[in-house]
Amino acid sequence: MPHAGPASTRRRLIRLLLWGLGLAGLALCMWQTAQVAREQALQSLRQDAENELRLSAAGLTGHLSRHDYLPELLASREAVKRFLASPDTQNPLPLNRLLDRFRATADVSDIYLLDRHANTLAASNWYRPDTFIGQNYRYRRYYQEAIAGRSGRFFGLGVQSGERGYYFSAPVWLDETAPDARPDGVMVLKVLLTAVEDSWAEQDAELLVTDRDGVIFLASQPALRLTAMAPLGEAQRVALRASRRYGDEPLPPSGLREIEHRDERTRLVSFAQGPLAGQPYLSLTRPMPAFDWHMHILKPLTPVINAQWVSALLAGGLYGLVALGGGIGWQRLRLRRERERFAERERQTLARARDELERNVANRTRDLVATNRRLSDEIEERRRAEQSLRETRDELVQAAKLAVLGQLAAGINHELNQPLAAIRAYAENARAFIARSRAEAADANLGQIVELTARMAEISAQLRQFSRKSGDTLTAVSVQSCFDYALRLFQARLHEGEITIERRWPEATAWVRADPVRLEQVLVNLIGNALQALAEAPSPRLTLAIETTPERVCIEVADNGPGIPEDHLARIFEPFFTTKSTGSGLGLGLSISGRIIDDLGGRLEARNAAGGGARFTITLPRDGGPDGERARTKEQSHHA
Ligand code: ADP
Repeated sequence: MPHAGPASTRRRLIRLLLWGLGLAGLALCMWQTAQVAREQALQSLRQDAENELRLSAAGLTGHLSRHDYLPELLASREAVKRFLASPDTQNPLPLNRLLDRFRATADVSDIYLLDRHANTLAASNWYRPDTFIGQNYRYRRYYQEAIAGRSGRFFGLGVQSGERGYYFSAPVWLDETAPDARPDGVMVLKVLLTAVEDSWAEQDAELLVTDRDGVIFLASQPALRLTAMAPLGEAQRVALRASRRYGDEPLPPSGLREIEHRDERTRLVSFAQGPLAGQPYLSLTRPMPAFDWHMHILKPLTPVINAQWVSALLAGGLYGLVALGGGIGWQRLRLRRERERFAERERQTLARARDELERNVANRTRDLVATNRRLSDEIEERRRAEQSLRETRDELVQAAKLAVLGQLAAGINHELNQPLAAIRAYAENARAFIARSRAEAADANLGQIVELTARMAEISAQLRQFSRKSGDTLTAVSVQSCFDYALRLFQARLHEGEITIERRWPEATAWVRADPVRLEQVLVNLIGNALQALAEAPSPRLTLAIETTPERVCIEVADNGPGIPEDHLARIFEPFFTTKSTGSGLGLGLSISGRIIDDLGGRLEARNAAGGGARFTITLPRDGGPDGERARTKEQSHHA
C-alpha cells in the first residue's frame, strides 16, 4: 500500500506482538520441557550413580577387608614370635621367605615385621634393594596403634616406593598372658590400591576417594590422584606434613567447582582444569565410615544435557506443529471471515444498488405518472379548448352568416315592402270592386294577393334556410344548385345594380363532397364581396365558373371591380381584416370561408385577374354524386 493508515499500523503492531508472544511461548515451552526432562534425567542418572557408587564402595571395602585378619593371623605364628624373641641371634631368611610366601598367597604388596621400637626386622621384600628391613616406622599410625595393643589401619604413600598403599597392622605378643604385658612387635601388611583403581577404569564414571581432609587419595582419573578436593588450609598442610602420610606431595587443588548444590550428597560440578575440564558432572558422595573416607562418583551430565536438548527440541517441534496448525487454522478462519466480509460488502453494495435502482425507478415512475397525468390533463384541456374553439367557430360562422343577413336586410326589406304595398293596393282594389259588386275584378285582385303572399313566403323560406345551422355530415352537393341558391338571395341587388352575370359551367352537375349549408355560405360571402366591389363599377359583371377534373372541382367567383391591392392580398384571409367602413364589413367573411373550405379538404385562393378585378377560386375534392333516386329527390327538394 502506498500509505499506511493507523489501522494497518495497529495491525502490524498486533502481528508483531503475536509473533513475540509466540516466540516467547516457544522459548518458555522449550525451557520448561528442558527443565522437566533435566530433572527426570538427573533423577535417573542419580539412581544409576547411587547404584554404581554403592557397588564400587562395596567392592573397595571388600577388597581391603579381605586382608583385615591377615596381620593378626601372622602375629600369632610361632615362627614370628620365635624370631621376635631373639632377632639378633637368628637368621631372618626363613621368616623373610615365609612372609614372602604369604604375600604371594594373599596377593598383597608387602608384609613386614617391626620390633617394639618400630625397626623393621623382617620383610617380604628382603631381596629388593629398597627393602624395608632396617627402616624405622615409628611415625606411622599403624605402628602406634598396634604397639598400643590394638589392630591398626593406615593409608598413605610408601616411604620407599612412593606408592599409595593401605596398611593393616596387628601387635605381636610373646606372652599375652602376663598381666601388664605389652606388645613386643608389630606385624604390618601393605595393600596397593592401584588394582582397585584399574578396575574402575572400565566404568562410565569417575570414582574418587577422599580422606577426612578432602585429599583425593584414590581416583579413576590419574590426574586427580593426590590432589585436594578443595584447596587445603595452612593448618591442614602442617598437620599432614607431620603425619608424613603423603610424604612431600604438593597436594594441589583438584580444580573442582560446584555448579549446583542439590542436597547433602548430591552436587553438580565441573573442573577448572585438567582432563575432566569442560564438562559438567553429577557428583554423588557416600561415606565409608569403616575407613573414615568418602567415596565420590562423578557421572558426566551428557545424557542429561542430551535428554534436555532432545526434549526441548521435541517440545519445540510439537509447539511449532501446534502453532503451525493454529496459524493455519487462524489463517483459514481469517480467510473465511475475509470472504464473508467481502460477500457481505458485495451484498450490501448490491442491496444499495438495488435500493437506488428501485428508488430511481420509483422516482421515474412517479415522474412518468406525473407527466402522464399532466399530459392527460393537457389532452383533456386541449380537447376542451378544441371543443370550445369548435363551438366558438360555429358561433362565429353563425355570427358571420347573420352579419351577411344584416347586409341583405335592406334588399330583403325592399323585396318584402314591394309585395306588401302591392298586396295593399290589390286589397283596396278588391274592396272597391266588391263594393261595386264586380266580383270578377275583385277575384282577379285577390288572385294577385295570393300570388304575392306566396312569393313573400318563398323569400322568408330562403332567409330561414340560410340562417339555419349546418349539420355535421358531408353529402354530395351540386355546385350549380349552390350557385342558384346564392344568386336567388341576391336577386334584388343583382337586378338593381344591372349586373351582368356570366355563368360558365358545364351541363353535367358538378358534385362535391360538402356540407351544402356551408358551401352556400361561402358562395354567398364571395358573391356578396363581389357585388360590394362592383358597386361603383361602370359595367359591372359577375363571372361564376365551374371546371372539373377527374379528382377535383374548381369553383370560381370573379368580378371586374377594382381588384385587391397587392399588399392586401396576403392579409385578406386574416380575421377582422377589412377595408370597409364600420357597419358594412366585419372582416370575418373570407377568414371563415377559408376555414370552411379547409375543413372540407379543399383550398380557397384569391388573386387579381389579368383584365382587372378580383378572382376567388375554390378547389374541392370531386364526388361521384348521390346514389339512387331517393338521394337525388331529397337533394332537389332541399333546394326547392
Ligand atoms: P368584409 O367584406 O366584411 O370586409 P371579407 O373578409 O369578406 O370582409 O373581405 C375582406 C376584404 O377583402 C374586404 O374588406 C376587401 O377589401 C377585400 N375584398 C374581398 N372581396 C373583394 C373583391 N371581390 N374585390 C376587391 N376587394 C375584395
